Amino acid sequence: MAKTVEEDKQQKAFGWAATDPSGTLSPFYFSRRENGDEDVTLKILYCGVCHSDLHILKNDWGFTSYPIVPGHEIVGVATKVGKNVTKFKVGDRVGVGVLVGSCKTCECCQQDLENYCPRLIFTYNSHNPDGTKNYGGYSDMIVVDQRYVLLFPDNLPLDAGAPLLCAGITVYSPMKYYGMTEAGKHLGVAGLGGLGHVAVKIAKAFGLKVTVISSSAQKESEAIDRLGADSFLVSSDPAKIKSAIGSMDYIIDTVSAAHPLLPLLSLLKVNGKLVTLGLPNKPLELPVFPLVSGRKLVGGSDFGGMKETQEMLEFCAKHNIAADIELIRIDEINTAMERLAKSDVRYRFVIDVANSLSQ
Ligand SMILES: [Zn+2]
Ligand SMILES: [Zn+2]
Repeated sequence: MAKTVEEDKQQKAFGWAATDPSGTLSPFYFSRRENGDEDVTLKILYCGVCHSDLHILKNDWGFTSYPIVPGHEIVGVATKVGKNVTKFKVGDRVGVGVLVGSCKTCECCQQDLENYCPRLIFTYNSHNPDGTKNYGGYSDMIVVDQRYVLLFPDNLPLDAGAPLLCAGITVYSPMKYYGMTEAGKHLGVAGLGGLGHVAVKIAKAFGLKVTVISSSAQKESEAIDRLGADSFLVSSDPAKIKSAIGSMDYIIDTVSAAHPLLPLLSLLKVNGKLVTLGLPNKPLELPVFPLVSGRKLVGGSDFGGMKETQEMLEFCAKHNIAADIELIRIDEINTAMERLAKSDVRYRFVIDVANSLSQ
């Protein structure tokens, strides 16, 4: 049968997808749009495995549209650039993070806060205005509007740098916005996973004193010796928590399970700020007394806009910051997801796409 014009405008793609809420991934053939005038086509080399990927695979948030190819920590090399593309050329090392589109005209887009655009288009589990579906980075290639493509600095490793595109910007953006970057101030990082371990490294680069607050006592030596934290608090040890009351200027709370905020708020000094980044599936209880009596602030933050994401990549390159990763083959992804569900990863899985994804 003759191909339609529309079929001719497609590029063949191959990845791993889940087709139902079991979340099990398996090989999947699909297509991407042909490279348009504003587009960059990437050959994908590496893709980080974010906790959101797991939630979407399992339909934990109730809005998964199967089949789903996850992945929004994508690093690769540009193989095609459209005629209007000015920022990139073929052969550049490039990245794609959590979003691939937005309206470009609203107040948020005009302020480089595309991540808060009401018409933001996520990298996967989303549709474009023309109705076509977006698939993520557990695949061989992707086509993205140049506005949502990042230049990967030369000295940033492609594999360990990939998680910066979600985990990195998600901790960097609130630190900048809420003014949590003053050298010498004391930051608590609650939860030592994908986000938390990058938060420790970025905070140390800003010159902060960093205390990791974790439910797991076994992470102490790792937090201090490997990641460079200054001290460690076990959240289940009331005596240790008590000794640290009123000692912190800021807290980044990366815990995604439902948890009490009161012990964390008690660690803050007067005027202290706590930013929550996890997305617990139940509302957290907000104790107002300690907020009022200590003029404390509780805020939230999503990932970040394109300009700030580029700035974060350059900051990380300058300070030699990357994620601590376990590099896996694509055919190890289902086992990796089982381990991720148990938080059994140090600290991010990254898929070696180019060397393991074969048809
Ligand atoms: Zn993510
Ligand atoms: Zn917008």
